[in-house]
Parts: sequence; structure tokens; C-alpha cells
Amino acid sequence: MKNITVIGAGTMGNGIAHVFAQYGNKVNLVDVNAAQLEKAKSTITKNLDRQVAKGSLDEAGKNATLSNLSFITDLKEGIAHADLAVEAATENVDLKLKIFKMMDEHAPAHCILASNTSSISITLIAAATARPSQVIGMHFMNPVPVMKLVEVIRGYSTSDAVTAQVLEMSKALEKVPVEVNDYPGFVANRILMPMINEAIYTLFEGVAGVEEIDSVMKLGMGHPMGPLRLADFIGLDVCLAILKVMHEGFGNPKYAPCPLLVNMVMAGKLGDKAGEGFYRVDAATKVATAVKFK
Ligand code: NAD
Repeated sequence: MKNITVIGAGTMGNGIAHVFAQYGNKVNLVDVNAAQLEKAKSTITKNLDRQVAKGSLDEAGKNATLSNLSFITDLKEGIAHADLAVEAATENVDLKLKIFKMMDEHAPAHCILASNTSSISITLIAAATARPSQVIGMHFMNPVPVMKLVEVIRGYSTSDAVTAQVLEMSKALEKVPVEVNDYPGFVANRILMPMINEAIYTLFEGVAGVEEIDSVMKLGMGHPMGPLRLADFIGLDVCLAILKVMHEGFGNPKYAPCPLLVNMVMAGKLGDKAGEGFYRVDAATKVATAVKFK
């Protein structure tokens, strides 16, 4: 059993905490926002109930998972005994640099510091700490309890030993880790985000509507979910942040975010977590209805 600290209890943090706790680790889930911790606790409980209903987990497994979890607002307290800390806070460089400085100051010397960032440089984050060889990317996919992939990102200074430990820990969660190097967007988002951005441009230019674009990609390309539905699911603010990092990191205009995406984020239409993005999601039934764009 290991002590794991997960920082940030949003879309990803609650899933990461859930999975580590389910596989027998003691997990401290930390968030500055107490209401978000409450929400995370109820999301994890609902997701565990779903696993029990499907027969992939029994009642004892559910209770053991919940008893492995603690919900904490103070980072210093939450990380004091961690063997591995996974940061899953908001996708913002300055915030992540500040959090990693604090993690480095308060975590035990042996602790590995991982980030679930979708696109921010692991090398840059590592440089904010006094232990760059122990800093690594551990990029889980959404929804974490379901998706098998963990993109393991080696920063410039990440050691072989730390990489090997993180690959092992990912396998212990029954995930499939894939090792990649640290360049903007890594592999997953370098390929996914230009597709999502192009789908938004296709809508922006009036080539087709939301449902039509998603239908083409689902029925024609065999994607389980259309790119606009997927963007809503990921969070439009997260998509915009990733595109900006790639645009700036490569200096290539092909990564410039579509103005419609920028406008929607400014208007607070962030996708499922806000109840509206390219689809409006009914709070009670969870049914998604495509928004009509002029
Ligand atoms: P989110 O907005 O749902 O949650 C972010 C959480 O971070 C919030 O609960 C917020 O209160 C918390 N937070 C902010 N400042 C904090 C601080 N100083 N200390 C502790 N907590 C703090 O975001 P998300 O979608 O869960 O994304 C989190 C990270 O995971 C980002 O780096 C994102 O790029 C990455 N990611 C997201 C997805 C996705 O599909 N959403 C997939 C893979 C990776």
C-alpha cells in the first residue's frame, strides 16, 4: 500500500483518486475549494455504485475504496506522507509552478511528483522544484476509472528509475502506460486537439451543424464520440488552454484556436461541467441536445 496525494478534485482529480483508492492505496484528495471536495466525494460514490451495479466491483470493494480516501483542503497536510503526488489542478502554467514549489517543499524527499497536465511542459514544471529527476507526467484519460491509457511523459531530467516506478504503478492500477517525450501536447493532445479545433472551424464556417459534424466522424470514421461532443466532455477551457500551449510552443499557426472556441470560453459555455457547450446537457436526465449555431 502506498500513500498517494492527488491535488485538484475536478473532473480528473476525482477519477485519479478513485482509481488509486480502488487498488488499495491510501489517498489524500486535496482541493482549495471545499465544495469541490464534497462534489468529488459524491461523484466517486456514484461511480462506485455504477461499478457495483455492473458487477465489476462488490459492495466490500466499494466500502474499502471509500475508506481509503481522505478529503483535505490543506496541501501541506495532504502531502506530508506521500510516496507519489499527482497534480490535477486547473490547466494554468503559473498555478502549476506555484503548486509544484509547494509540493516540493512539503513532500518527503523520496516522493515522486507527477502532473496530469494535458500540455504544459514537464521540464518547465520540474525546474520549479529542487528534485527535477523525480518529476514526471502521468496523463490519465477521462473518465479515469474507464480509460486504460496513461501517457507517461519524461521531462528533460526525469530519471530512468522514476520512469520505471511510474510505469509499474500505472500497471498496478490495471492501466496501460505509454512512455513519451516532453514536447507540447505530448502525443495524445498533439493529434486530438487539431482535430477538435478543425471540427469547431467547420461549425464556425457554417459547413455543417453540431450533430452533422459529430455524425460524420462517428459513422464515417468509427469514432465512439464525435469531436464536438468530446470537446464538451473534456471542457472547452481545457481544450483552449492546450491549443494555446501548442500554438505558442511550436509557433505554428496551424494550432491557433478557432475564434468560436475562444468566444464560448469567454461566455462561460465550458461544456458538460457548465451544462452547456456545443450541447446542452439536462441536469436531471443527462440527455445532451445539440445547440443550434447561426
Ligand atoms: P477542473 O477544472 O475540472 O478541476 C480543477 C480543480 O483544480 C478544481 O477543483 C480547482 O478547485 C482545483 N484547484 C485550483 N487551484 C488549486 C490549488 N492551488 N490547489 C488545489 N486545487 C486547486 O479541471 P480538470 O478537467 O480536472 O483538469 C485538471 C488537469 O487535468 C489539467 O491539467 C488538465 O489539463 C488535465 N486533464 C484534463 C482532462 C479532461 O478531459 N478534462 C484529461 C486529461 C488531463
